[in-house]
Amino acid sequence: MNRKVLVKSKCANYVDGMCVVRDIACPLVTPFEYNGHKFLCEEAKCEYFEKNVVGIDKVVEVKLFTYKHCNQCNKPFKPSSSASNYCSDNCRALARKKTHRKFNSKRQINHS
Ligand SMILES: [Zn+2]
Repeated sequence: MNRKVLVKSKCANYVDGMCVVRDIACPLVTPFEYNGHKFLCEEAKCEYFEKNVVGIDKVVEVKLFTYKHCNQCNKPFKPSSSASNYCSDNCRALARKKTHRKFNSKRQINHS
């Protein structure tokens, strides 16, 4: 269970993926773009959600989130699932690039 599940089950403003107060797709469950910048759900902040949903459910929240350190930038983050090792898609992409580079350089050595 993560924040998205909490939003869907507990937030009174969440209706079918939409935030009825903002009249947009709820940014806590749907990544959104603004001025060319992509905001991940994990980065999105909702005052209503934090005050009224997390506030009530503090005990549950503490159990829900265990911090992990990002394999890429070493920043502590709340993994959305036990399988995620990176704080953001950005870091995941960077790590993937690194692996690719390693793979490519190995291949070049083998060829020469
Ligand atoms: Zn990171």
